[in-house]
Amino acid sequence: MWSLLAAAFTAGQGQALELHYPAEPGLTGVTVAWSGHPVPFVRRGDQWLATVGVDLDSKPGDHAVTVTFTYENASPRVIREPIIVEAQQYPTTELKVEERFVELSPEDQARADREGAETTKIYDTFTPERYWNEPFAVPVRGAKDGRNFGHRRVFNGQPRAPHSGADLRATTGTPILAANRGRVVLAKDLFFSGNAVFIDHGHGLYTTYLHLSKIDVAVGEMVERGQQLGLAGATGRVTGPHLHWGVRLLDARVDPFSLLRLGAP
Ligand SMILES: [Zn+2]
Repeated sequence: MWSLLAAAFTAGQGQALELHYPAEPGLTGVTVAWSGHPVPFVRRGDQWLATVGVDLDSKPGDHAVTVTFTYENASPRVIREPIIVEAQQYPTTELKVEERFVELSPEDQARADREGAETTKIYDTFTPERYWNEPFAVPVRGAKDGRNFGHRRVFNGQPRAPHSGADLRATTGTPILAANRGRVVLAKDLFFSGNAVFIDHGHGLYTTYLHLSKIDVAVGEMVERGQQLGLAGATGRVTGPHLHWGVRLLDARVDPFSLLRLGAP
């Protein structure tokens, strides 16, 4: 019989989380229902793994998800797996930005809305293939950390959505590298984000690279971990050159550095 005594999975608000179960004999598949998606686990050695994300605005406390185990010669087993979400403190910052980025003209508003719908459609797409097998890497060579993830921002007195990525120091022209293997699903200039590259890594995981001065990849292209995507810059709504690195993981806004801490998948 299986054990029900395993420690509960725990993650902070805005953190990636790896769910794992031992590969028992006869177990042929594991699936978790995570924010409406049936997410298949992958077999890695003696474990079944799935990478999921706890959104920045998830309620702290005890949650539970449904996990289904399928067997070669037995009926499926369904469990309620407890997930503990821990509160994280993210500060609020007041920023002065160019008025045109706060009070948008009707044309700019229409463009921003159109692009918002386009990115939502990308994030809502679940690619059944998991393209990556290696740990995630920082997109700026030698970068140790990023700033501003989760900051509540007030632009010229008006509250905005929390900052959903990490800002990495990078002067204009710094090479920006793919954090892992995946397919380019967006590569163009966006109103707020400037020159942007989005990579679909499969299984609901997307990384984004914003404010670039130059884009070196095209939509549809498969990129390898460490491949150059473009050069850092200061395009879009920014106060200076840097890389905004974002992660969407099954619709959750998570700190990209929490993905790095997962180590090898
Ligand atoms: Zn940013």
